[in-house]
Amino acid sequence: MANLIKNTDIDFSKAIVIDSTLIKTYRACQKKYDYFQNHRYVKKSRSTAPSFGIAMHEGIAQFRLQRKKLIPYPSAIEIGQAALQQSYQKHMPAESQSEVMTDDRCSLNNAIRLYHGFCQHYESIGYKYHYVEIPFALYLGKIKIPNLDIDDTWSGWIEKDVIYVGIIDAIIESNGITYVNDLKSTAMNITENYLNGYQMDQGLIGYTIAARELLGIDTHHALIHAFWVQKEAKTKAGKPLDEYYHTKPLYFDDEQLAEWTSNTLLTVTEIEQHKLSNQWAMDYAASCNLYGGCDYRGVCSLPPSSRQQRLEMDFRRAIWTPLEEERLQVMEE
Ligand code: SF4
Repeated sequence: MANLIKNTDIDFSKAIVIDSTLIKTYRACQKKYDYFQNHRYVKKSRSTAPSFGIAMHEGIAQFRLQRKKLIPYPSAIEIGQAALQQSYQKHMPAESQSEVMTDDRCSLNNAIRLYHGFCQHYESIGYKYHYVEIPFALYLGKIKIPNLDIDDTWSGWIEKDVIYVGIIDAIIESNGITYVNDLKSTAMNITENYLNGYQMDQGLIGYTIAARELLGIDTHHALIHAFWVQKEAKTKAGKPLDEYYHTKPLYFDDEQLAEWTSNTLLTVTEIEQHKLSNQWAMDYAASCNLYGGCDYRGVCSLPPSSRQQRLEMDFRRAIWTPLEEERLQVMEE
């Protein structure tokens, strides 16, 4: 990964450091944020989908880096595949790598098949890759939160700096337009409605601002590359591989970018206020059941007095580190 680009020298330990995952988690459910970020509980049994996504990202990033250096396609694809395989072996849970899983949509064979399909699909467009995998730290501004004395009484206000961090997948030029690119993988059928949803993707808008402010790229354009994670069709009636890949150009004007910044600061202020009161509401709604169910559903569905025991049984502690290759750093047991 490239070096961190930033517009602040503030010590990270003295600021509020936030990223799109934490914002998304908080907005989905305060309680989920509390379990994940305050108490650091993550499920012991790891889901394969995020690890599969990381491996695909690594392979594609390496391929793009080679193409950026004008390495010929056959060599670039080989180097990318080696990176994908290495990352797959490192990140995928051991049980998913067993022989019985070789036909699974998250198998290594399928990852390689999807990776080749992806590279081939976009190669013919003739993209120029200006940047690939850029970690960034973007200073957003200050927020004001109550200063509480030791006995919880209010004694004025304090200001805190907020830094937004993330990794831009790529900056791509195509037909004279420069785009901030984000890769998405999903097992769901990719429809126009699914792609339109990215117009409201707070992560992507943040990356567009970071590209403008930190890389000096004068663009309002973003480009989603979404690919379908599905195993090979067994019959001829199945979808051809080339149709697994979908591209969605998006546009954010200056007002939308400015609105994102003030809105993000509002959410961060809210999170800090909840930290002071230590009160975190449960969603009791869509977030509990989305994407196969929230990780904490088995906890929240128990009577409150039984929840701690379940947390200790089924979860372990890990720190979310958005700028590291391994985003979840497991803590000592
Ligand atoms: S199960 Fe529902 S209430 Fe519990 S943390 Fe998840 S989203 Fe929140």
